[in-house]
Amino acid sequence: MKKKFVFFLFSPLFLYPKEISFLEKGKNACFILQKSYPESIKNCSDEFLILSDDRKILLYDSLLKRDIESMASNPDVLSVFYFPYNQGIKNDAGRARLYPLLEITYGKTKKEVQKNLKKLDFLGQTLFFNIKNGAYNAFQKIILKLKKLIQKKPELKKYLLPAAGTFSYRKISGTDRYSAHSFGIAVDLNVKYSDYWLWHKDWEKQTYSYPVEIVKIFESEGFIWGGRWEHFDTMHFEYRPEFQKKD
Ligand SMILES: [Zn+2]
Repeated sequence: MKKKFVFFLFSPLFLYPKEISFLEKGKNACFILQKSYPESIKNCSDEFLILSDDRKILLYDSLLKRDIESMASNPDVLSVFYFPYNQGIKNDAGRARLYPLLEITYGKTKKEVQKNLKKLDFLGQTLFFNIKNGAYNAFQKIILKLKKLIQKKPELKKYLLPAAGTFSYRKISGTDRYSAHSFGIAVDLNVKYSDYWLWHKDWEKQTYSYPVEIVKIFESEGFIWGGRWEHFDTMHFEYRPEFQKKD
């Protein structure tokens, strides 16, 4: 009898209705991630996302604060989609990353990531990108689309070239977390025409002054744009297929 009670206390049924809905959202998030990282995720149980190496990530952590810093430093699965991406709202959608998932997909160490990098020709500039999980192929498709775009609108080329880079094994400044560049799944375009939240706080200015054609091309292939973040970084594009609109 006592054992059953203890079980009940820790089971999802003991949660408040709001928390049950968060748990359901966490499970839906797990299913979306499973579609986007099919080789890395084995299963979505009632409480956990289960990685292909059997490590588990909580779907919903009831003790976690729902601000971006808490969710980015200690994310549950719900954190990934807690903020909606590209809904015209200032937020930090995509800045919470599940590191065990990124590591199992793209490489756990600098050496492992480097083994997965392949050279590509970015409009005449050599860059490297991760071949796992469709990242490299998506970037190649983007390059083809960008080539067509700058044939039509050569004035946009300056936003792209020279790109500031892709792979760089480094932590996000002021944090203990690795940047998406550490996995070879992000690109920074020309820094000269970019804006960063630490330089000024004018979100409206940076959002509306960057060429939307470039952003749309990246987003059409499963990349998110750092210019949509409240802590914006307009030259930054990152392969995050879980945010791709599938119509
Ligand atoms: Zn970047």
